[in-house]
Amino acid sequence: MKVAKFGGSSLADAFQIKKVCDIVFADPERKIIVVSAPGKRNREDTKVTDLLIAVAKARLAGNSFETEIKAVIERYKDIAKSLEVVDIIPEIEDTLRSVAGADYTDDIKYLDSVKAMGEDCNARLVAKYLNSVGHPAKYCNPKECGLFLKHNDLGKAVILDESYDNLSSLKDCPEICVFPGFYGYSKEGEIITFSRGGSDITGSILAAAVGAEVYENWTDVDNVYAVNPELVKNPFAITEITYDEMRELAYAGFSVLHEEALYPVFVRGIPVHIKNTNNPSAKGTKIVSKRTHYDSLVTGIAGEKGFATITVNKYLMNKEVGFLLNLLRILAEEGISVEHMPSGIDSVTIIVRKKNFTEEKEKVIVDRIKKELNAQSVSVERDLAIVMIVGEAMANSVGIMARAAASLSSAGINLRIVNQGASEISMMFGVSEAYCSYAVRALYKELFKV
Ligand code: ASP
Repeated sequence: MKVAKFGGSSLADAFQIKKVCDIVFADPERKIIVVSAPGKRNREDTKVTDLLIAVAKARLAGNSFETEIKAVIERYKDIAKSLEVVDIIPEIEDTLRSVAGADYTDDIKYLDSVKAMGEDCNARLVAKYLNSVGHPAKYCNPKECGLFLKHNDLGKAVILDESYDNLSSLKDCPEICVFPGFYGYSKEGEIITFSRGGSDITGSILAAAVGAEVYENWTDVDNVYAVNPELVKNPFAITEITYDEMRELAYAGFSVLHEEALYPVFVRGIPVHIKNTNNPSAKGTKIVSKRTHYDSLVTGIAGEKGFATITVNKYLMNKEVGFLLNLLRILAEEGISVEHMPSGIDSVTIIVRKKNFTEEKEKVIVDRIKKELNAQSVSVERDLAIVMIVGEAMANSVGIMARAAASLSSAGINLRIVNQGASEISMMFGVSEAYCSYAVRALYKELFKV
């Protein structure tokens, strides 16, 4: 059995939905399909999820949301008309109006419930269409199927373990299951959404729950590429990549799947296949636990801006038992997650993401380090980019670091940090943010010999 998730661009209008249904009909193993809300039909268009956010915001501001909700209903009407399933529209309109008109005293819960309706209505519509063309299909409500979530301490939506058991019964469903992505329910029966792009997580959860042979993630690109195609023309296509490699590249900005989507399938060793709805015969990219072949020494190169460094100096730091422990404790108490920690003898640099490390946090943390740890100096720089070279085939091969460093030096890029993990699957470089794209291009040119 295959679980196939289709993203917003694959479901943006009737034409796209027909393509999706053809893909589903082409393989009887595609028994569970997970749908996103209709996405953009062109560059200037607005995603249904964003239209719904506008509905909720109008209501929360105490204004009428009639114009906003009509825009959403119109999107579904357009699609339903072209697919000749207009009799689904009253059900969609009722659903939207009742959720948008419900109690909004808790603004976070209200926003979640309205946002989720993009997926919910799309699943109803797609199921209706599949039935209308003679393929028995069922809209699956996440509450009835038992997809339960909760918010963790950081406010993030996480799955309750019992959901896997509940959802496993979907494999016995005789019809095609059409499951809305992006949301589930709390045990109290309230809607909780994942963060944006979260339908990828729903697909992964369902694939894990039913023990799927593969989790297909249908999008609008033929492959994952070895480097961001906005930086390099016609980059090398990746046909196979491991979960670990993908994770390392995602860390530095590869945004193929939602970053939390790999975990449920990774734990169970279920492969993910990224495919293109607009070109189903393209090979796509497989994410697997063990690779069958290597097309190149390096699998991918990625770079991301947005990091800061905190460098702490203290004479005889290496002799002081518990120094690092105390330093990390301060960061933990201030709610800052540590990304990397390159160190010298009397100095250590902590790399953090700027997003959470605000100027106010910086002040508090620097003061505490100086006072509580008696540090000689603490300096902060806020313009670091991380560039990663990732590839399992690099392990045990000689000279890659030398080539990478030489290519950066001939491009005039100063290396601020260098780090190679013990597993040898990746190398990490820290460069000034201004050099991030140049560094990625220079490394790609050298390591892929283009
Ligand atoms: N529709 C949601 C979004 O736009 C979730 C998703 O598409 O995965 O983020």
